[in-house]
Amino acid sequence: MAGTITIKVRRNGPYRVDGEGVTIIDWQGQKYAAKDAKAIISWGACASYGCVQAAKPNPTRATPVHKVITDKPIIKVPGCPPIAEVMTGVITYMLTFDRLPELDRQGRPAMFYGQRIHDKCYRRPHFDAGQFVEEWDDENARKGYCLYKMGCKGPTTYNACSTVRWNEGTSFPIQSGHGCIGMPPFPP
Ligand code: SF4
Repeated sequence: MAGTITIKVRRNGPYRVDGEGVTIIDWQGQKYAAKDAKAIISWGACASYGCVQAAKPNPTRATPVHKVITDKPIIKVPGCPPIAEVMTGVITYMLTFDRLPELDRQGRPAMFYGQRIHDKCYRRPHFDAGQFVEEWDDENARKGYCLYKMGCKGPTTYNACSTVRWNEGTSFPIQSGHGCIGMPPFPP
């Protein structure tokens, strides 16, 4: 996308410290950097939602990007971090088609966040068959049964882990035997 400036804004910086030792976020620099951008991509859960440092009492007044830059289209690409191929895929789409990707109702690219982990999980046949891991390292775990009873959050998590996977498609948490922990978190 010719002329587009893609900006990654970290929620906690840059900082300056006043005489009383209170950390103050300087967002003016971020707004200046964004002024000629066609759109802003919020990389990661912090930029997208605020994440743990924005929790009360939020002493640093940590703020997600869309609450600071309000006059540009915001594309949220949450994750901690987002999957590398998802990040490059979003940029590649914009450069190739010269338009923003379709977004879901939370402002995320639907092509990567439109389905639940559960929808594409290779253990799904075991879920449908009622075959579950009951304890870590039990016989069912060795058979690769569904991790729902071990706390897997795949049924309520929208991300591309079960399709794109991680480390150039090598694996993802469920494939390593641990249930999904629900990243990115649902926005507050
Ligand atoms: S392991 Fe998790 S995501 Fe996979 S089928 Fe079971 S509950 Fe769904």
